[in-house]
Amino acid sequence: MARIVLASGNAGKLAEFRALLAGSGLELVAQGELGIADPDETGATFVENALQKARHAARLSGLPALADDSGLCVDALDGAPGLRSARYAGIHGDAAANIDKLLDALRDVPVARRTAHFHASIVLLRAPADPAPLVAEGRWPGRILEVPRGSGGFGYDPVFQPEGNERSAAELGPAEKNRISHRGQALARLRDLIAAG
Ligand code: IMP
Repeated sequence: MARIVLASGNAGKLAEFRALLAGSGLELVAQGELGIADPDETGATFVENALQKARHAARLSGLPALADDSGLCVDALDGAPGLRSARYAGIHGDAAANIDKLLDALRDVPVARRTAHFHASIVLLRAPADPAPLVAEGRWPGRILEVPRGSGGFGYDPVFQPEGNERSAAELGPAEKNRISHRGQALARLRDLIAAG
């Protein structure tokens, strides 16, 4: 079975990507299992950062590599927190602090102008110098609530209300969220690209 390295240390992502590749004849190995750590992310866009992570993992492992990068873009904040979504309030992954900072930044912004979207970029490099990587992206539009709601999901989910939905992303079940989210859309596109050869 051919092996692919996943350029992420996140167990949830490993499970999602393993499900994506089930039945494809490809075995996914987490970069941590090979002693590979994340590189610095210096790109100006999600797709550049995903490519950096995948190239780093492919180079060090000698295997094809899969990587993703995602975040929340708020229109009234010119796209912030964007690439800094995970560490918006300073500490990487402190979701409560990130939400507090976001709600504070939007304190005087009325409901109609609280539009936002999640973005996900996923790339598959067949080799470190692959000149034509597979690139799949997803966009999940919605708006930022004034008060957090729900206990599911992660990150900004309690303050994100997907377009056409009465609930926050944290009030959706995991299967429902994965079907419609930015990452779910990008994964489905990547699956199509892989199937197309
Ligand atoms: P990364 O792609 O794992 O680096 O995620 C970047 C950050 O974007 C996460 O730490 C979250 O703050 C935010 N984010 C990305 N996807 C989601 C999501 O589905 N729900 C809530 N927050 C998300």
